[in-house]
Amino acid sequence: MRAFSHPDQMRHTPRFFLQRGQLRPNFEVPARAEALLAALGRLGLPPETAAAPARAALEAVHAPDYLDFLEGAYAAWQQLPNPGEEVVGNTHATGDALANGGRRPGGIIGQAGWYTADTSCPIGAGSWEAIHAAAGVALAAAAEAAAGRQAYGLCRPPGHHAYRARAGGHCYLNNAAIAVAALRQAGAKRVAVLDIDSHHGNGTQGIFWEDASVLTVSVHGDPSNYYPFFTGYAEETGPAGTNRNLPLPAGSGDAAWLDAVSTGISAARDFGAEALVVSLGFDPSEHEPLGLLKVTADGFARAGADIAGLRLPTAIIQEGGYNVEVMGSLLERFLTGWGAA
Ligand SMILES: [Zn+2]
Repeated sequence: MRAFSHPDQMRHTPRFFLQRGQLRPNFEVPARAEALLAALGRLGLPPETAAAPARAALEAVHAPDYLDFLEGAYAAWQQLPNPGEEVVGNTHATGDALANGGRRPGGIIGQAGWYTADTSCPIGAGSWEAIHAAAGVALAAAAEAAAGRQAYGLCRPPGHHAYRARAGGHCYLNNAAIAVAALRQAGAKRVAVLDIDSHHGNGTQGIFWEDASVLTVSVHGDPSNYYPFFTGYAEETGPAGTNRNLPLPAGSGDAAWLDAVSTGISAARDFGAEALVVSLGFDPSEHEPLGLLKVTADGFARAGADIAGLRLPTAIIQEGGYNVEVMGSLLERFLTGWGAA
């Protein structure tokens, strides 16, 4: 198995994070990628540097005006009087406003709210370079899958909360969706996404909601009291019946989590997927700050083995996981279970 990364992904150093009414240090930090890089070294899978993504590959998923916003937001923000170091929106477009003709504003402060679902996506000096590089990493992994092989993309920042034109939950470009679009472009008639991050893959669901050629499956913590809160419920099956949400109660543990992962694997098989994109998050771990799903290292090894059993061309795309002390070893266990190293 080949692995891909890009040094520019370290240039995104977000600071702003609002949690339970308090400003706290943002935990989507470069040290996450460093921990995963070290793990790949231990596995004997040193990552190759991915090429920059073509604009067309990004536009296969994301709106051109959104891409322009992400690229230019920091410079525009610095033109404001007395600006903060990072672009952070504070007024978001609600469904009520959109239903009454709400539209994209011209100024950067309003645009920061228009293009973000929440306050977890600050844009600083090197953010665009990192966001752009991460999409290239996803495309490099997808190219391997398009050639019938399996690959791991060490993507940072993560992507599965990003919609077609909206950032959210530490995510800006939807790396997994960009990989799916590339696989479709390369000729795969049906592609499945299996998202095992502990949070609902709401952006991926949204992007492929009406696309019957893409099955989106997400195994995650019950959103009634967990990000992203508004979506991720089992009844969200989509107009073509190609979305499957498998929410789990807090404290589920390995057995229930692996059971849901197996359900997702069966769904991908029944769908007749020709290629697979795995949205791999380590935040189901029992050692995560919130530790909602209480999955052990053995659980991740088993999940790797079970998903590998599909024997599909696969792009494994890194999503969340925030305990930098354990996520490297969890990647080792997952990929070893997979049989990749
Ligand atoms: Zn997550």
